Amino acid sequence: MLWDFEYFEPVTISEAINLLNRFGAGAKVIAGGTDLLVDMKDEKIRPKFLVSIMKIPQLKYIIEDGGALRIGAATTLAEIEESPIVREKYGLITEAVKALGTVQVRNMATIGGNICNAIPSADLPPALVTLDAQVKIAGINGERTLPLDEFFVGVRKTRMNNELLTEITVRQPPGHSGTAFIKLSRTSEDLAMVNVATRITLNKEGVCQEARIAIGGGVGPTLLRPREAEKILEGKKLDEETIRLAAEISCQKFQCRPTSIRAHPEYKIEAGKALVKRALVKALGRAGGGK
Ligand SMILES: Cc1cc2nc3c(=O)[nH]c(=O)nc-3n(C[C@H](O)[C@H](O)[C@H](O)COP(=O)(O)OP(=O)(O)OC[C@H]3O[C@@H](n4cnc5c(N)ncnc54)[C@H](O)[C@@H]3O)c2cc1C
Repeated sequence: MLWDFEYFEPVTISEAINLLNRFGAGAKVIAGGTDLLVDMKDEKIRPKFLVSIMKIPQLKYIIEDGGALRIGAATTLAEIEESPIVREKYGLITEAVKALGTVQVRNMATIGGNICNAIPSADLPPALVTLDAQVKIAGINGERTLPLDEFFVGVRKTRMNNELLTEITVRQPPGHSGTAFIKLSRTSEDLAMVNVATRITLNKEGVCQEARIAIGGGVGPTLLRPREAEKILEGKKLDEETIRLAAEISCQKFQCRPTSIRAHPEYKIEAGKALVKRALVKALGRAGGGK
């Protein structure tokens, strides 16, 4: 029966971890519930124990700390959207949050839930990866930190094992950086057919020092970080041809499911190339280059 489960509301991280450890595979963390409750209603999962993390103050914060931004996993997307620090210094995150769902969804949904659900069309992970995000995970055996792009192992699969995601940290983009997030979806509140986040960091001579590209939208079992394309951009003064080539290479390793309900694989590849190109041009312009 759908609603046959026990519900817990711990108020500390250690209490939550102990509950997860006690109930093992039968337990599920619930944050905003905007993904989990849909899956439960569709009877895709039937947890016996739900451990809510929304009453844990230690998981709700946005703090700037030595050139990095730390966000507690249970911070809602609305809280992130309204944060002046995020808007002013980490605008890429605000851009991605605004593209996600509706106001009602963002009022409930959390950053941790968007990551832990591990669907390849989620909007925040590509933006966070281009800001070199790290995630902190806590379990009965202690804490560990992982780069976000190593956290995902497949569709709805992560490296967590009965653990709790507690914090996401991103690096403040260095000076002369520009970022961009672009999402293509059937309707404004739908999941992405393709989403792309980019960061370009220039040196004083206007040469690209660091490039980051991350692509989501079901273009593979996890988001894609085309490092070959990033390498094409790095060390060069970026012109139209270099950007076109990087966009082309970015989409060569797409593994789209032919049965995807949102878009045909060939459409995703063509859309991906156009989106990567647009996002790179936008990021370059915001970095002060490309004039
Ligand atoms: C109408 C609608 C529109 C949507 N549109 C979009 C969209 O445009 N883009 C998009 O990316 N998503 C979209 N979503 C999906 C969803 O809103 C987001 O993925 C959201 O961020 C999930 O967060 P949550 O707090 O609600 O997670 P929950 O539903 O509470 O949890 C999701 C999963 O993560 C696990 N989990 C949550 N927090 C933690 C944690 N701290 N540690 C360990 N495990 C954890 C849960 O066990 C569960 O498996 C939409 C959903 C709806 C209903």
